[in-house]
Amino acid sequence: SLNGKTAIVTGSNSGIGLGIARELARAGADVVLNSFTDRDEDHALAHALAEEFGVKARYIKADMSKGEECRGLIEQAGACDILVNNAGIQHVSPIDEFPVEKWDAIIAINLNSAFHTTAVALPMMRAAGWGRIVNIASAHGLTASPFKAAYVAAKHGIVGMTKTVALETAQEPITCNAICPGYVLTPLVEAQIPDTMEKYGMGREEVIKKVMLERQPSKEFATVEQLGGTAVFLCSDAAAQITGTTISVDGGWTAL
Ligand code: NAD
Repeated sequence: SLNGKTAIVTGSNSGIGLGIARELARAGADVVLNSFTDRDEDHALAHALAEEFGVKARYIKADMSKGEECRGLIEQAGACDILVNNAGIQHVSPIDEFPVEKWDAIIAINLNSAFHTTAVALPMMRAAGWGRIVNIASAHGLTASPFKAAYVAAKHGIVGMTKTVALETAQEPITCNAICPGYVLTPLVEAQIPDTMEKYGMGREEVIKKVMLERQPSKEFATVEQLGGTAVFLCSDAAAQITGTTISVDGGWTAL
């Protein structure tokens, strides 16, 4: 059980981050939720996790596009046994038309934020004598698709940083790994289904299997619960010698 451990999950007021925070709380960890907003419903998510699983949970606002706020998140949390770098955004455009501000934002949120949080969290893990860093990369951390230059660059970058941090902590009770999801059914993805159905003149199932899951051989979405379960596994004793690697949760995408 993860009783007494504190887990910080960046970008966790929706989707995969919230799913991972839920499963870590179910496993007994105290959790810190984060995003860049500061709404009542953000704090309510934390209260709901605390009620449901009997753990401590709070929400801390910090903008992961800003280095100082990334560092401030970890400092404000005060403890960090488990760090899940999950915050991420996407923008799709040919590289010669790629908006510079989108490139900068994607590299800042999807890659640089993990540098800043890790730099502050590692000394805390060393002082506590235990630590787990789980970076949420993507199938796009291992393969590419056209029109996603910034995202693919950032996700390949975080896979590289994962290996480096693992080597720097190899002889300590700390591990650093990346999870590489394929297509995951998050509210964001769900919201794209109606438009895609209309665009292709297809029904829901057809759009999911032929368009959205074209590259996912299982023809099934991964779920946020499955990603949460993978993160909990990486925090377990069974995973103590797993470090510096990637675990794909992609229905066979990267086997193709
Ligand atoms: P999502 O949009 O539901 O979640 C992204 C989270 O990041 C949200 O909580 C959002 O508030 C937060 N966020 C965005 N900008 C932020 C900022 N500046 N500061 C702090 N928080 C910020 O999307 P998701 O699908 O859950 O994505 C989560 C992670 O998983 C991302 O890194 C994404 O690249 C990765 N991923 C998703 C899929 C998928 O199919 N959904 C596949 C592979 C990888």
